[in-house]
Amino acid sequence: MLLRLVWPVLVISLAVFIFFDAKKRGYSQMTAFSWLIFTMVMPFIVVPAYFILAVKRTGFSGNSQLQSNKICPKCGEEILTGRESCPRCNNKLTL
Ligand SMILES: [Zn+2]
Repeated sequence: MLLRLVWPVLVISLAVFIFFDAKKRGYSQMTAFSWLIFTMVMPFIVVPAYFILAVKRTGFSGNSQLQSNKICPKCGEEILTGRESCPRCNNKLTL
């Protein structure tokens, strides 16, 4: 009986948590919102799937901000993770 009350609250909290976590990990607003909806519809499938995908993408801590902003040694432009060359001066990066 208590579970009926607790369950929706738990699912919604999880969905909201995933929404913000997804944004923190660099997913777009739309993608994060889709995760939120899917989590509410089928939490048992989506929650584990989300964590597998998200951890694969940005590592366990998930703070993409820390990993991204590399600085180009040639022109000082900030370069996002995953890029192999500088968007401004096209300098190839050594990883
Ligand atoms: Zn550069």
